[in-house]
Amino acid sequence: MISKTVTDEYIERDFEYGARNYAPLPVVLERGEGVWVWDVEGKCYFDMLSAYSALNQGHNHPRIVAAAKAQMDKLSLTSRAFHNNVMGGFLKKICELTGFEKALPMNSGAEGVETAIKAMRRWGYMEKGIPADRAEIIVCEENFHARTTTIVGFSTDPEAKTGFGPSTPGFKVIAYDDIEALEAAITPNTCGFLVEPIQGEAGVKVPSPGYLKAAREVCSRQNILFCADEIQTGLGRTGKLLCYQHDEIRPDIVILGKALSGGLYPVSAIACDDWVMKVFDPGSHGSTYGGNPLASAIGIAALDVIVDEKLADRAATMGLYFLDKLRSLKHDKIREVRGKGLLLAIEFTEPIAKAFCKKLKAEGLLAKDTHAVTVRFAPPLVITREQVDEAFSRIQSVLKAF
Ligand SMILES: *Cc1c(COP(=O)(O)O)cnc(C)c1O
Repeated sequence: MISKTVTDEYIERDFEYGARNYAPLPVVLERGEGVWVWDVEGKCYFDMLSAYSALNQGHNHPRIVAAAKAQMDKLSLTSRAFHNNVMGGFLKKICELTGFEKALPMNSGAEGVETAIKAMRRWGYMEKGIPADRAEIIVCEENFHARTTTIVGFSTDPEAKTGFGPSTPGFKVIAYDDIEALEAAITPNTCGFLVEPIQGEAGVKVPSPGYLKAAREVCSRQNILFCADEIQTGLGRTGKLLCYQHDEIRPDIVILGKALSGGLYPVSAIACDDWVMKVFDPGSHGSTYGGNPLASAIGIAALDVIVDEKLADRAATMGLYFLDKLRSLKHDKIREVRGKGLLLAIEFTEPIAKAFCKKLKAEGLLAKDTHAVTVRFAPPLVITREQVDEAFSRIQSVLKAF
């Protein structure tokens, strides 16, 4: 009989007491630092997922940890029934960095997206004059905007959606990267267009150059709010602070999450100008934890790290360097290597992505497959050139044996 490892014991306990809503790689992590994580058996791995880009600043960034500890000793939660002395500084920082006038803090990305949906709908009724309960929001095929019933209702991924109906009405799904489809979907009741500047979960789908700019132009001409979901692409990941800046556009609403806390705490927000944000009045929206002092202190430190360590520039430089290396890989099962900044992916010609990730794990590198054929490489943005070299050589040696 083969004896159980410590890893097996942890995994069995998760399965015994936990819901089976995930199918994780069989690795149990207990510690992290920068681009590294360690499992319960002491083995060290490169983290090439960064918790879906929540860890742009790296695991346990000392500045963010220190800010969290200091705030925890003072005050952690007040609810929005009272003011606290930290939130305003956090919102000011979000506004200064994004160039918007106002920000509204929530917790998970899902709540950020829900907040943007509510803002678009209310703007549609209050400002555009759409008849009650008729507002439509346009979204794209293969979108990923989170897991609430409303949001999965307009997903096109059967795994995410099946069995959770009835879907919330008021959403129209069009092809991604298709300006004509956007034009054609617009009606007098359209209030907004919700889009990811790069579709991360769909497998790092980068739209054609000029798509976002053209979509912005259509939305302006047709009096529709353009809402960019930058939860995964934002805060430095693609080589700019916000991915839409590559296209030199400005949305009407931007949604932030994930790296807004550097991985320490769920923190999300929307940012927009006052002509949009003013649709919220007291009682119309909120969250017990949204904007709490602990989240705000963590958010301030997380944003400071991105700016002070020039993480967007690092993502641009290291991303190009890494992309060039990945593109040099020769293998008949590689269909395409693509991405922007440090949001990179290899797409295979066959559904071998999960098996590839298992082999990478054995080589000390954790990556995540998406849609069976694609593997995403999105390390913390603090990664050094030497670390890219080392990660690449592990990827290369796994591929050779494949
Ligand atoms: C992760 C993600 C979300 C959802 O964020 P959660 O914190 O998991 O709710 C929404 N949109 C995009 C683009 C994401 O990558």
